[in-house]
Amino acid sequence: MASPQTSIAIIYDYDQTLSPNYMQDEVLFPAFGISAAQFWARCGDLVKSQGYDNELAYMKVMLDTLGMDRPTNADLRALGTKMNFYPGLPQMFEELQTGLLTAEHATHDIRLEHYIISSGLQELIEGSRLRPHVKAVFGCEFAEDNSGRITFPRRVISHTTKTQFLFRINKGMLDLSEDVNDHMAPELRPVPFQNMIYVGDGPTDVPCFTVMRKSGGYAVAVYNPDDPSRTSFKKCYQLCAHAGRVQHIAPSDFRPGSHLRLLLEEMVVEIADGIVARRRRDAEEGTVKAPRH
Ligand SMILES: [Mg+2]
Repeated sequence: MASPQTSIAIIYDYDQTLSPNYMQDEVLFPAFGISAAQFWARCGDLVKSQGYDNELAYMKVMLDTLGMDRPTNADLRALGTKMNFYPGLPQMFEELQTGLLTAEHATHDIRLEHYIISSGLQELIEGSRLRPHVKAVFGCEFAEDNSGRITFPRRVISHTTKTQFLFRINKGMLDLSEDVNDHMAPELRPVPFQNMIYVGDGPTDVPCFTVMRKSGGYAVAVYNPDDPSRTSFKKCYQLCAHAGRVQHIAPSDFRPGSHLRLLLEEMVVEIADGIVARRRRDAEEGTVKAPRH
């Protein structure tokens, strides 16, 4: 049976996309008295001198630095409650659910879903105020040892492996025990790429932007308008003006009426209208093709 393909997904990176801060700096380091400068310097050293992946480097330095004070995953979730976001969040999630799609869209069972794919720590996002509004979160995770404290990495999501999770959303394989590489015909996939919008902030999102562009989805890069160095804006400008990685760039402001909100709302409505048109066409063609007696 073909999937109705009436779900629309907005997929967000976390750090610098939904929040102006890095989650470790914002909640982890203050809780454990860790110096951010020393922490990131040690990570940089592991990457440069020992060839570590960035994500494994921060997870190792985290375990090494915390030592006996290693928290449990529940402790990380509790710290996640303290995370803050760009303006308009988390209110936007509620506002989009109630004020955007029309009664006609509803009759076609069109629904809007949100997902987060991050190279940061899944448990911090799980504990955050965003979580109730998001269908699934994918991030790096630690297993726990016999005493319940975090130990070896259970899952690492690097910027290149982030794209795997776009395919999981596309195929409806949110359970990580399912093999996302299993073949699935396009008409069976619950969220076609044309129904997806990916929002990220920079070079680490390039593989996801590329998948979206190649597969007919939407790609938006956001920047921090309050960054006096303009580094954040320049990253986005490069992605849009020279590399053609994204269709749009906008300041990270999720409040009603902001450039980003206008873009996201227009894209969602465009996708929803497209779904209605396709379903009408399918119904008409179905009538025409009906067997004659
Ligand atoms: Mg980011």
